[in-house]
Amino acid sequence: MQVTETMNQNQLNSNKEDILIVDDAPENLRLLSTMLMAHGFNVRKALNGEMALTASGTVQPDLILLDIMMPDLDGYEVCGRLKANENTAEIPVIFLSALNDVFDKVKAFKVGGTDYITKPFQLEEVIARVRNQLALRAAQKQISELNAKLEQRVKERTEQLEAANAKLLQMALHDSLTGLPNRGWFVEHLEETLGHARTNSSYLFAVLFIDCDRFKVVNDSLGHLVGDQLLIAISYRLQGLLGKNAVLARLGGDEFALLLTEIQGIKNATTLADNILNALSHPFELTRNEVFINASIGIALADSSHEKPEHLLRDADTAMYRAKELGRGRYHIFDPKMHAEALQLLEIETDMRRAIDRQEFILHYQPIVCLKTGKIVGFEALVRWEHPQRGLIPPGLFIPVAEETGLINQIGTLVLRQACHQLYLWQQQGIAEDYLTVSVNLSVRQFAREDLIEQIDAALAETKLNPENLKLEITESAIMDNSNSAAIILQELQKRRIQLSIDDFGTGYSSLSYLHRFPVDTLKIDRSFVQRLDENPDMGLIPAILSIAETLGMNAIAEGIETDRELAQLQSFKCQFGQGYFFSKPVDTAKATELIVANPCYLE
Ligand code: C2E
Ligand code: MG
Ligand code: MG
Repeated sequence: MQVTETMNQNQLNSNKEDILIVDDAPENLRLLSTMLMAHGFNVRKALNGEMALTASGTVQPDLILLDIMMPDLDGYEVCGRLKANENTAEIPVIFLSALNDVFDKVKAFKVGGTDYITKPFQLEEVIARVRNQLALRAAQKQISELNAKLEQRVKERTEQLEAANAKLLQMALHDSLTGLPNRGWFVEHLEETLGHARTNSSYLFAVLFIDCDRFKVVNDSLGHLVGDQLLIAISYRLQGLLGKNAVLARLGGDEFALLLTEIQGIKNATTLADNILNALSHPFELTRNEVFINASIGIALADSSHEKPEHLLRDADTAMYRAKELGRGRYHIFDPKMHAEALQLLEIETDMRRAIDRQEFILHYQPIVCLKTGKIVGFEALVRWEHPQRGLIPPGLFIPVAEETGLINQIGTLVLRQACHQLYLWQQQGIAEDYLTVSVNLSVRQFAREDLIEQIDAALAETKLNPENLKLEITESAIMDNSNSAAIILQELQKRRIQLSIDDFGTGYSSLSYLHRFPVDTLKIDRSFVQRLDENPDMGLIPAILSIAETLGMNAIAEGIETDRELAQLQSFKCQFGQGYFFSKPVDTAKATELIVANPCYLE
């Protein structure tokens, strides 16, 4: 019977290192174990190779002292098997060999031994070699533990970095307020779609550029928080309209872009635009407010001429601007001509700066006629640009650019001075009746200027014109966009007895409630209403506008009278004044002077 002493893990003193001694000579086992235990080690003993393999397989010792010469399995074989098993491979093995043994050191190291001790044992040597190996093993263990920890840390850091990257990517490609994709994402997506269209010439898609109308009014009056709420609500409402072939992005501010793919034609895009406009026409119920908002939409249909996604966006943007110009709350489809016009605008802007110095802005005058007497009662001053190459440029082409660049202030001052000066001259020449007025248009931006009143005072003082002969024309939006300052400005004008007209009345986006609050003298009925008289002589809004004017103690001027039929209609409605090609187009100073002198009566 072979004897083996084994212990289970519980029996092992966990603080002590565990050494397995394998020797077929019991006296060796005893000698070594006594010695090692005396030095504080846990010792297990095995009398042969099989036992050693079983013992070290059950509970791995920290070190094995292994006799070479044993019956059945010799030390080399046992060591080889230990090393071949991944559970025991790392256990250091010190060979024990008698002096007279044929001990093959090279073979011992080859099979995985780490050291050897020769018999008879010398106490210090055994302890020293055991300690060495244990220290080495402990160091190795520590290194591999550190490595494992390090690997774990690296793994965690990598995961954190990946998460951060994903978040950055999400942030880089999405809008934080609405969670919608942003401009960067949209442009990338557009690029892919364009690539797709290039390989498949029948692939059609469209870009819709959506810009909220008068969003600034919401922000200014209800605050940015409400503005933010509204943007989120708009993005929800828009998303609700989209099928799987459409994606929505927020480009920034109150601008959204929509990519509509796999369409049959422009009809798909215009139907969607109609749906959007319809959806936005219902009020938004926000936490505390009910808000109405409109949008203008530009549509660009993609074709092979679009090389870059930015061009498509630009075209849709240009079309959106046109939709705004045409009265907002509508869509407009991009037409390549618009691009040429946009380029032209850019040139206009550069030229305009020079034009001010070169005094290329001149005034034409269009008579305003009393519809009862047929006599001229005043003139509207309309600016023109005498461009050295392009000829006479109408204000519709450069006033919006001047508004955007701020040059409108300089141009406006020029116009005001020139108009006042001209009427004063006519008065000095004794040809102008006392009641003859000159009407000067003020743009929204001019009206917003703090020094507007000073500017007007200066022009009047300089030209010596009686303020009562000056009329200013502003649009409804000038008042609405500056609702805080408007009241004060208008009062100041009233103090000076300067008259005030609301231009293009009926086309703006305003409530009637402001009208009675402000000292307005005249409503200028927009040309579009007069035009509609031809289609619909009895109906139309003109009688309603005239009755509003009458109720509020104002008079009315009908703009753009072109035919005698329109004139007759307006007369039957008792509209007091009129203006239009039927009487005279706007004419230059010389012709206007002739008109004043001729003093025509436009009624038979
Ligand atoms: P507005 O103030 O409503 O001026 C009337 C416009 O209608 C003028 O166009 C005039 O030529 C045109 N018009 C008059 N009668 C008829 C007609 O019977 N038929 C048609 N089809 N058109 C008629 P214009 O001179 O091109 O001016 C366009 C707009 O540019 C003006 O509209 C005004 O808003 C703006 N504007 C003109 N001069 C100035 C200016 O000195 N300063 C500012 N801020 N804006 C100006
Ligand atoms: Mg006008
Ligand atoms: Mg007008």
